[in-house]
Amino acid sequence: MSGDASHPTDCSEVLGRLYEYLDREMPDGDCAKFQEHIDECSPCLEKYGLEQSVKKLVKRCCGQDDVPADLRSKVLGRIEAIRADEAGDPAVGGRVPPAEGP
Ligand SMILES: [Zn+2]
Repeated sequence: MSGDASHPTDCSEVLGRLYEYLDREMPDGDCAKFQEHIDECSPCLEKYGLEQSVKKLVKRCCGQDDVPADLRSKVLGRIEAIRADEAGDPAVGGRVPPAEGP
């Protein structure tokens, strides 16, 4: 059977409940849907990976491990960039792609 192109789970729902999933506060049924969606959807997978990195960094900070400031700012910088993208306001991010010359 084929032809059902629509995902049962919406991207905005996945991103909105990402922390529930990361914190394992999600019911098993929803968890499976999430896993499935993240496996198939690269934007959500990337976002999931970033949030996971931040959580790990925070954990390491609390565990008195040294987190390289460089790595931390790199991860946070990428998240900022993605959030600015999602906001759809080019003035926020300040990342205007260079115009291609003739
Ligand atoms: Zn998605």
